[in-house]
Amino acid sequence: MTAKLILGTEIREQILEEITAEVKALKEEYGKVPGLVTILVGANPASISYVTLKIQTAHRVGFKEVQDSQPVDISEADLLALIDKYNKDDSINGILVQLPLPKHINEKKVLNAIDPDKDVDGFHPVNVGRLMIGGSEVKFPPCTPAGIQEMIVRAGVETKGAEVVVVGRSNIVGKPIANMMLQKGPGANATVTVVHTGTKNMEAHCKRADILIVAAGVPGLVKPEWIKPGACVIDVGVNRVGEKVSEKTGKKIAILKGDVDFDAAKEIAGSITPVPGGVGPMTITMLMKNTLKSMKFQLGIG
Ligand code: NAP
Repeated sequence: MTAKLILGTEIREQILEEITAEVKALKEEYGKVPGLVTILVGANPASISYVTLKIQTAHRVGFKEVQDSQPVDISEADLLALIDKYNKDDSINGILVQLPLPKHINEKKVLNAIDPDKDVDGFHPVNVGRLMIGGSEVKFPPCTPAGIQEMIVRAGVETKGAEVVVVGRSNIVGKPIANMMLQKGPGANATVTVVHTGTKNMEAHCKRADILIVAAGVPGLVKPEWIKPGACVIDVGVNRVGEKVSEKTGKKIAILKGDVDFDAAKEIAGSITPVPGGVGPMTITMLMKNTLKSMKFQLGIG
């Protein structure tokens, strides 16, 4: 059996088209488009490329996008004042501070200064609490877990009553996706187990999974024999395992592998995400969805 591929690259296109259409309709009705600001401190090349991608995607779906670049020596007080300015700006619905920040700035203090109603990353403690409560309390589910849930739903995988096993318990992937899958509601209502380095028999847990979500950051951690035949496997891991020369550009690019032995796993699973091209493209996509939601909340129609 060869698993059905769940492609983030395809699902991203569907969702971005849906967002573009909604933005257009809202603009016609309310004369307003969602505003997203990205604050970049310094000139870390990886941060620049992440910010550029976010801004390009925001532009593509018709948002007002603002890239606010600040010098690496900006003081913490000035950065907090900048956030305060965007918190008060009605044309801005989402505020992103690109991490990492320079060492003289307290990251936690800065992130917690973002108005929770503009925290489209969903990492503010208020939004973490809202996610935990679930239902209509949830405003901005964090983007990677939201992307994972969207992929499972759009792939037509039944979640109600499913055994979901999550490998990893980070605050950005493992814990929130586990929490989301156990909520009572559509696309969830599952029985959830979370495994980690303290787990005694990881293999036994994984073998029970109807939906196996792996976010450990360890290439090839999940062996094909740990996969239940027909299971849905979501591989969140992105591991650089070497370099190659791109056929397109002639430049050196990273060779990426997931946490699952994809070639063998696809012969056992019912559906599976590849790496790259699986979960990866979903994160920025869901960031756009959260920013659109933010404007709808502001307009009282969310
Ligand atoms: P993280 O903060 O390092 O957390 C990894 C989790 O996996 C921890 O809970 C850790 O357990 C667990 N773990 C590590 N090795 C393990 C092992 N051998 N057995 C069992 N559990 C193990 O990582 P993260 O931020 O969640 O990211 C995980 C992976 O997803 C990374 O490869 C990252 O690059 C990728 N990722 C991709 C996207 C995307 O595609 N958009 C977004 C975010 C992350 P302990 O808690 O016990 O240490």
